Amino acid sequence: MYEIPDNFFQILDDKYNLALDGHIFFSGDGSKNDRVEETYGSTKLPYQLTLLKSLTKRPEKGNVASNPFLKSEPELTVLESFGPNDEFKVIFNKFPVVPRHFMLVTREYKSQNTPLSLNELVATYSILKKVSSEGEEKWFAFYNCGPESGASQPHKHIQFMNLPKDFVPFTETLAKGSEPFIPNLKKEPLQNIDLPFAHFVAPLPHDLSNTDEEELSMYFVSLLQRVLNVLKDNQAEHISYNVLMTTDYMALIPRSVGKFQDKIGINSCGFMGLILCKDQDLLDVVYKEGATNILQSCGFPNIKGQSSDEYHY
Ligand code: AMP
Ligand code: AMP
Repeated sequence: MYEIPDNFFQILDDKYNLALDGHIFFSGDGSKNDRVEETYGSTKLPYQLTLLKSLTKRPEKGNVASNPFLKSEPELTVLESFGPNDEFKVIFNKFPVVPRHFMLVTREYKSQNTPLSLNELVATYSILKKVSSEGEEKWFAFYNCGPESGASQPHKHIQFMNLPKDFVPFTETLAKGSEPFIPNLKKEPLQNIDLPFAHFVAPLPHDLSNTDEEELSMYFVSLLQRVLNVLKDNQAEHISYNVLMTTDYMALIPRSVGKFQDKIGINSCGFMGLILCKDQDLLDVVYKEGATNILQSCGFPNIKGQSSDEYHY
């Protein structure tokens, strides 16, 4: 059901190179990257700040009527159909900053405000397993869910990108220090008490097979429950959160606003430590305010230390 062609990686590479000829607008070439580290308590938080010369062609906000994912361009299509009942397809991001940035999208319209279904989780995990089994890159999947999550397109899409070389996001460090477990009433998800923003991380078992569907769903639901608690306790008027996933962990971050001071868009990548600035002025804002402060004001206060029955949904 979730059969991915053996040569998926090769297909990805070949089609990407072909599509660069007029169909994909790669904006990584003109970008400038700076690595910074911020210290909170005994935690060092790594960031890569990316200054883009131009992202002008990319639509700031998509809409359902002119939905680019329903009839995607053939040149951008990696797999025409995928998953049970062929409910998904795999397409390239047309405006990538990182080469071969691709997405799993539903073939029929489904709202980006809906939580990840069992099939979507399994499809995401299967793809992560596949791309992580080849090459040197560290791949991650992300899902920007809800109106304040940083998403720009309303049609359901889960994205796949790889991390900059030698970059270890805080989620990875947190997950590495713990044995896999499904958070439940007895076991809390992992949270780093040093960080000012709420975040919930579950390390995944290494031997999780593509068929352990229900287990994946339990991980997701238990983290989502924590997110909903935070949103409720803060009287949020919308359900917005970011999902990060690798073959090693799943992380959810509740979101209060999509943009810092209405000008710097923060999506899931931001909580991976990857912050995109569209001009020098915005980059200066990040240096001045500090990346962690920016994440904090786009999220909610850390609740580490509260037991789960203090914040039952
Ligand atoms: P998000 O902003 O997280 O909702 O992700 C939507 C992504 O879709 C953006 O990163 C855009 O670069 C990408 N995108 C916009 N239009 C198209 C298109 N016509 N084909 C493929 N990807 C697109
Ligand atoms: P956005 O402004 O969030 O739509 O992002 C612009 C493009 O870069 C899209 O293709 C995103 O999915 C992707 N992207 C978003 N944040 C980052 C980041 N920090 N580093 C690299 N690419 C990113």
